[in-house]
Amino acid sequence: MTLNVPTYADVQAAAQRLKGHAHLTPVLRSRFADEMLGGEVFFKAENLQRMGAFKFRGAFNALSRFDAAQRERGVVAFSSGNHAQAVALSARILGMPAVIVMPSDAPPLKIAATRGYGAQVVLYDRYTEDREAIGKRLASERGLTLIPPYDHPDVIAGQGTAAKELVEQVGPLDYFFGCLGGGGLMGGSCLAVKALSPDCRIYGVEPEAGNDVQQSFRIGKPVRIEVPKTIADGAQTQLVGTLTFPILQRDASDILTATDQQLIEAMHFFAERMKLIVEPTGALGFAAARHAAATGSLPLKGKRIGILISGGNVDMSTFCRLISSLDGTPS
Ligand SMILES: *Cc1c(COP(=O)(O)O)cnc(C)c1O
Repeated sequence: MTLNVPTYADVQAAAQRLKGHAHLTPVLRSRFADEMLGGEVFFKAENLQRMGAFKFRGAFNALSRFDAAQRERGVVAFSSGNHAQAVALSARILGMPAVIVMPSDAPPLKIAATRGYGAQVVLYDRYTEDREAIGKRLASERGLTLIPPYDHPDVIAGQGTAAKELVEQVGPLDYFFGCLGGGGLMGGSCLAVKALSPDCRIYGVEPEAGNDVQQSFRIGKPVRIEVPKTIADGAQTQLVGTLTFPILQRDASDILTATDQQLIEAMHFFAERMKLIVEPTGALGFAAARHAAATGSLPLKGKRIGILISGGNVDMSTFCRLISSLDGTPS
């Protein structure tokens, strides 16, 4: 099966399918953020999306395109994070079976949440077993359709609906900053932002320890890295997608990075100033924009800046530990 690189028309079609199912998330403003970045900052709050992250958009779009036979047999996905819950919730809404392959040492809360959406969870040992092989075996044995977390045209198109909404909500932008793992979110964002705000400069932001896409972007071909050590657990990908990379190469101005410390500072800012719970990965865009403003590496002064907050799924003890590590430091 060959999969085609999606276009903006696919994002528009995805938006139609998501109507009435995904939340139209708010765009939030903050005077402090405007002062910090020196422009007008528009935060698209996907931490307030269903199941707490934009991933619902791509999963629901992909599952709603299944034909009758696929729906009957169901879907399989492998993920320890937001994609698992997004597929499980979408399958429940669409009334189809879901099997999620998760590492046996995934946080018990996440396993419980995935089961709570009615999915069957298959656990594997992440040190001795290959989750992709398990997923593929389940797919062929039971006739399930495998939906990957980012490298799939319907997933990319669905993820692009968040940026589409943002530009429709606030008008054209000069800059867009979003979070980057395998590139589903940024690939879809590129399609939407370039269509609706063609002059906007687009930046994907990775954890500094896991800058595989930045390396790939600079040398012009995909670079694989070891599993990065970072608190940004939603962006611990090792290799950019074969569908997402060409979109980024064509449409992104550059790929930036943020350190774990910068992510914690951004999470602290969101909590203290905007009363928002943001997971470490969800803070990547703002962390990099803030750093760019502080160092003057991008001319953000007086500009209209869109920042996508991608998710808010962090357990409270981790959140409190990260935030309190900054105690005494003003945000
Ligand atoms: C999955 C995820 C990302 C990265 O998305 P990709 O499509 O893999 O680039 C960023 N933030 C959150 C909260 C996520 O769950």
